[in-house]
Amino acid sequence: MNIYTYDVVIIGAGLAGLSAAIEIKKAGLKTCVITKLHPLRSHSGAAQGGINAALSEANTKAHEFDTIKGGDYLGDQDAIETLCEKAPETIRRLERMGAVFSRNEDGSIAQRAFGGQSEPRACYAKDRTGLTCLQTIYEQADRLGVEFVEEWFAGDLLYDPLKRKAYGVAAMKLATSEIAIFNAKATLFATGGYARCYAINSNAHANTGDGLSLFLRKGLPLEDMEFVQFHPSGLAGSGILISEAARGEGGKLYNALNERFMEKYAPEKLELAPRDVVSRAIEREINEGRGAGEDKDFIWLDLTHLGKEIILNKLPELFDLAKSFLGLDMSVDRIPIRATAHYSMGGIPTDNFCRVKASIGEIASGLYAAGECACVSVHGANRLGANSLLEAAVFGKIAGETIVSDAPKLELIRAEESDADTLLKETQKLLRSNGEQSVASLRAELQNSMTKNAGVFRDRDSLEKQAELINDLRRRFSRVRLSDKSAIFNTELQEALELGHMLDYSAVIVAGALSRKESRGGHYRTDFTQRNDDGFLRHTFGYLCDRGETRLEYSPVTIGDYKPQERKY
Ligand SMILES: Cc1cc2nc3c(=O)[nH]c(=O)nc-3n(C[C@H](O)[C@H](O)[C@H](O)COP(=O)(O)OP(=O)(O)OC[C@H]3O[C@@H](n4cnc5c(N)ncnc54)[C@H](O)[C@@H]3O)c2cc1C
Repeated sequence: MNIYTYDVVIIGAGLAGLSAAIEIKKAGLKTCVITKLHPLRSHSGAAQGGINAALSEANTKAHEFDTIKGGDYLGDQDAIETLCEKAPETIRRLERMGAVFSRNEDGSIAQRAFGGQSEPRACYAKDRTGLTCLQTIYEQADRLGVEFVEEWFAGDLLYDPLKRKAYGVAAMKLATSEIAIFNAKATLFATGGYARCYAINSNAHANTGDGLSLFLRKGLPLEDMEFVQFHPSGLAGSGILISEAARGEGGKLYNALNERFMEKYAPEKLELAPRDVVSRAIEREINEGRGAGEDKDFIWLDLTHLGKEIILNKLPELFDLAKSFLGLDMSVDRIPIRATAHYSMGGIPTDNFCRVKASIGEIASGLYAAGECACVSVHGANRLGANSLLEAAVFGKIAGETIVSDAPKLELIRAEESDADTLLKETQKLLRSNGEQSVASLRAELQNSMTKNAGVFRDRDSLEKQAELINDLRRRFSRVRLSDKSAIFNTELQEALELGHMLDYSAVIVAGALSRKESRGGHYRTDFTQRNDDGFLRHTFGYLCDRGETRLEYSPVTIGDYKPQERKY
């Protein structure tokens, strides 16, 4: 058993993990970045539409207010202030590193309109913004000599609950199934999003939320998990994302009756209302029988009025997606779309410096989180488009800076070989189990039922049913059978580990949603359709207990200058 020792271990090589790695490496600390994918395959590279900044600093307050209102007043306003204030310098930092953003005629950085924003604020590189940012920052990390531990799966968090202190991870090499320990004074999780627990979703296959469940399994909480964002425009059938940039550039939505139905739901902002509002409008049109197509199960996105030149110049990636997956030409054909699970507002609770909360009011030592897996919380109940790349870049850098300043005070808990036992036993049990259930069938059952029962619309009955089903799936998962028992690139074993994680954090999504008897942002209860600030203007902290039971606590929201108001668009 190899035990590797570092000052800092980072799990995740997306925009957040790499932003931190650069700061840590520059400070001369010994660090490595563990990633189950090649860094450039991280989901940050799939981001299309843009990254927000009020480039004229005079407008920072408007960015803050839009974010607070967009999040239905559940975001912590001090964290949002940091996000928006640091946005312009973040764009300049990325640009100086080499990210080529699209420009206006006069050479200034172009910005496009996005939902819920009072002015065009999303900086972009055509519709390949995430790829541009990720490639640039990876190049810089590589230039500095950051050590990458690629295609290793982090499968256990090393954590001493009495000292409330982390000391690294146990991980498995995907090529050989070798297990090793990465022991460190500081451990940073930047493991990204987790919408793969839904059947219709826009996420990469790797977005299975392993990082989050590792925390749950150590008795640590997750925050606001009931808030899942459904993006209005997934390609019908697959859920593959057609970026909000399509609506930002002027795309219109029509139902089967050829009505531009957003006029009913958001008379001022129309298609550029925030995502939760547009997604609900789409699903409502479909539920009430005004969906298009034979099965009346999609809505039309119309970009034909833009013309081929603008589409090819500003949305080339989207043009290719529609062509490759549906054989349609956006400049002459309307595109069938439907809401798709896209982003997760909740996650590992942290303070504004990315230090993990071991419980409400208690900070864990040597443990940090940033990016989509974390909940600072800047997005509250609903994220505005183009604020997430920004969060990953801003808070990834902050995490790096915090770790550099904390490092001299952190002592290393020396790992022992037995620290790998949990992961070893988990993999051996999966390989030996000779039950009758396959990973693929259990996963499909989880995903389909999450979309049906804990999706755009939920109520008590659907959520109770889902909680029971997850318990049942968990029991059946203990009798899962892998057909591949080999050690070499055993992707079935990896998928089984991932399914275990998906079951764990899905239980907390459902528990949070069941207890939140109100509708706010991405969480819409058909049995409690109004927002209820008296009862629920608070963050949920969800824990997983023995035998899959959940426990919830609540903590106050940090309100600053902006008092909660009714949210209208
Ligand atoms: C299709 C799509 C389009 C989007 N468009 C936009 C947009 O235009 N603007 C915007 O602001 N946001 C957008 N988003 C959201 C945004 O891209 C993400 O929230 C953000 O990039 C997340 O960055 P991250 O660094 O936190 O995680 P990621 O980039 O997802 O990186 C996660 C990393 O964790 C690693 N990892 C995970 N689990 C393990 C494990 N068990 N062991 C080892 N490594 C692990 C992965 O290998 C990966 O390197 C989009 C998202 C999607 C899905």
